[in-house]
Amino acid sequence: MTGSPADAPTRTASVGVDVDSLWHYYRIHGLPGETTANTAWREGVSRFVELFGALGIPATFYCVAADVEIPGNVDRLRALVAAGHEIGNHSLNHRYDLTRMAPEDRVVEVGQGRYRLEMAAEAPVFGFRAPGYNTDAGLMADVRQTGHVYDSSVFPCAPYYLAKAGVMGAMTLLGRTSRSILGSPLALTAPREPYRMSDADPHTRGEGLTQFPIGVAAGVPLIGTAFTALGERAAVATAEVAVRLRRHVTLEFHAVDLLGLVDDTLDPRLAVQPDLRVPVAKKRRIFEAVLKTVARRAKFVRLCDLKVG
Ligand SMILES: [Zn+2]
Repeated sequence: MTGSPADAPTRTASVGVDVDSLWHYYRIHGLPGETTANTAWREGVSRFVELFGALGIPATFYCVAADVEIPGNVDRLRALVAAGHEIGNHSLNHRYDLTRMAPEDRVVEVGQGRYRLEMAAEAPVFGFRAPGYNTDAGLMADVRQTGHVYDSSVFPCAPYYLAKAGVMGAMTLLGRTSRSILGSPLALTAPREPYRMSDADPHTRGEGLTQFPIGVAAGVPLIGTAFTALGERAAVATAEVAVRLRRHVTLEFHAVDLLGLVDDTLDPRLAVQPDLRVPVAKKRRIFEAVLKTVARRAKFVRLCDLKVG
């Protein structure tokens, strides 16, 4: 049979959702114009809450504090807390260039992000996730000094790094400007399991803040867009490998992962984000199968409840 009961409780898993509003995708893809559509919060978040609720899984929702100003979002934030989920800090304004900003501006993005989310949610915020996963020692010093107890921004995945480099290169050729930045290739050498970071380099072990790196198994990042691209069978197989390989698995989704161009009558130009073309019901089925696969071998916990020695 598969796995002894003795080893099941020692494995843990966590799932995070980055609540990036649609306007972030206009910036990533260099699309002209802005949108005020709140579909990611209104539909994306509520679909994930329904999915996690059906499976009895607690999650962490990494929120952008500026989005709390949008009418209705404070209530949505509090509803997440009431449902047993954790709120994480995804910064004040979702600037992709935090690692390049002046230190006095950067610390505001990190500290005000946490403060405003805590005020709005009426709940403590323990964790930080950097926009675009770009991190360095200076940013981590801010994360620590502003009262966070963990970070979950390191993404040690070569295919993702190369794909991002490729997309950004192609956009330059097309004369478009992406607001995303590539980040450090050092992330590729980071540990694959939760670890305490070195203060000098967040990608190496030390005595500092806890890092929960985004999961990678067999070269595949454990993120929603990858599961959608793989389809149900391959996504489940990847999840199975991950949960056998690791003592802790960190899965990552974005709120838009459960939006659809047709389902939600989105701006057709957002078809540049390929997984938005996939119907919501199909993606939900894939994600549910992945989460069930992980849950069979690991206990889902909120990251704020997990201790790393
Ligand atoms: Zn984001």
